[in-house]
Amino acid sequence: MDFALNDEQEMIRQTARDFAQRELLPQAAARDLSGEFPLKELGALAELGLMGVNVPDAYGGAEAGALAFSVVMQELAKVDASVAVTVSVTNMVAELISAYGTDEQKKRHVSKITSGEAVCGAFALSEPQAGSDPSAMRTSATKIDGGWRIKGDKQWISHGDKAGVMIVWAITDKEAGTRGISAFIVEGGVKGLEVVSAEHKMGLRGSTTVQLGFEDVLVGEDAMLGTEGMGFKLAMAALDGGRIGISSQALGVATAALEASLAYAQEREQFGQPIIRHQAIANKLADMATKLEASKLLIMRAAWMKDRKLPFSKEASMAKVFATEKACEICDEAIQIHGGNGYTQDFPLERFYRDVRVTRIYEGTSEIQRIVIARQLIKEASK
Ligand SMILES: Cc1cc2nc3c(=O)[nH]c(=O)nc-3n(C[C@H](O)[C@H](O)[C@H](O)COP(=O)(O)OP(=O)(O)OC[C@H]3O[C@@H](n4cnc5c(N)ncnc54)[C@H](O)[C@@H]3O)c2cc1C
Repeated sequence: MDFALNDEQEMIRQTARDFAQRELLPQAAARDLSGEFPLKELGALAELGLMGVNVPDAYGGAEAGALAFSVVMQELAKVDASVAVTVSVTNMVAELISAYGTDEQKKRHVSKITSGEAVCGAFALSEPQAGSDPSAMRTSATKIDGGWRIKGDKQWISHGDKAGVMIVWAITDKEAGTRGISAFIVEGGVKGLEVVSAEHKMGLRGSTTVQLGFEDVLVGEDAMLGTEGMGFKLAMAALDGGRIGISSQALGVATAALEASLAYAQEREQFGQPIIRHQAIANKLADMATKLEASKLLIMRAAWMKDRKLPFSKEASMAKVFATEKACEICDEAIQIHGGNGYTQDFPLERFYRDVRVTRIYEGTSEIQRIVIARQLIKEASK
C-alpha cells in the first residue's frame, strides 16, 4: 500500500492549502463570531473545482478521487471547519447524484453544484424523531399525477437554507420498512419548502444548520434519485464516503491545534525555560502527534480502498470513530498547553475545541460507528 500522494493529489492539496491560507484564514475567527455564511468563499471554491473533487469531469468535477477529497478537507478544516463541513456535504451530494443519477439529473444538478450556481448541496435525512435511526423518519412522498408530493419535517440540515440542490429522503411505501424509503432531488426555493428554524450551535458558527418544513412540495417523476425504495441504501452508501470527509475534517482541526501548540510550547517560558522543556508538556505533544499520525493512516486507508472500489464501510467507520475521538482529545490538550490563553478568543484553540466536538456526532455518532464496525466483524467471522 503506497500512501504517497501522486502529482495530481499534491497539486490539489496545494490549491486547497493556498486558498485556505489566503482567503479563509483572515476572516475565520470573525465568521465564528458573526455567524456570517461564507458565500463568496464557496463560490471561489467551486471555481477551483473543489465542490466536486470526486465527481466526473463531464459534470464539472475534478475527478481526483477520495484521497484527494480527504486532503482538501484537511487543508480547509485546518483553517475553518465551518467552510470545510459545507464543502464536505456538498461534495457528498454531488457524488451521490453522479453515481446514481440519470444523465439528465447529472447534467442539471451536478453541474449546478460544481459550477457554484447552486451555492452548495444539502443532505436532508435526519428528522426530529429520526437521528441515529433514520428508518424512523415520517416525511412522506405520495404519488400524484406526473410526480410526487412531499410532506414532513427535516432537522439538523447543514446549510439547508442556502442550498440550490438538496437530496431529501421520504417514505414512499409505509409497509416496506427501509425498503419503502426513496430519495428525491429537490431544488432550493421550491414552493412549499420552508426554513422553520435555525440552530444556535456550540461551534461551526460559520455554517448554518436548519429545520426544514416540506408542506406539499411537488416534484416531478424525474426528481427521484435511483429507483423507488432504494433511498435507504443510497443514504448508507453516501454516509460511508461522507465519513471519510468528516474524519478528515477532524484531522485538519487537530493538525492545526498541534501546530499551534508546538509553536506556543517553544515560545512560552515558565520556570526559566520554554515549557516544551518540561517533560509533561513534551509528552503531551508526543501523544498528540502519534494520535494524529494513526488517524491519518486510518483515513488514508479508507480513502485508498474507496478509490480502488473495494468495500470500505468498516474502514470508514474505524477512521471516523478514531480520528474524531482523538481530534477531540488533541484539541483539549492543546488548550491545556496554552494555559489561560487557550481559554480566550485571542487564540484559535477554543474555536477548534468547539468546532471539532460535533465530528463525533454527525454523519453517525461514535456509538453508531462502533455498531457498524462490530456488525462487519461478525459478518467476517462467520464467513
Ligand atoms: C451541526 C450538525 C449538522 C448536521 N447536519 C446534518 C445534515 O446535513 N443532514 C442530516 O440529515 N443530518 C444532519 N445532522 C444530524 C446528525 O446526523 C444527527 O444529529 C446524528 O445522526 C445523531 O442523531 P440525534 O442527534 O438524533 O441523536 P440520537 O440518535 O437521539 O442519539 C442520542 C444518543 O444516543 C446514542 N444512540 C442512539 N442509538 C443508539 C444505539 N443503537 N446504540 C447505542 N447508542 C445509541 C447516540 O450515539 C447518541 O449518543 C447534523 C447534526 C448536527 C449537530
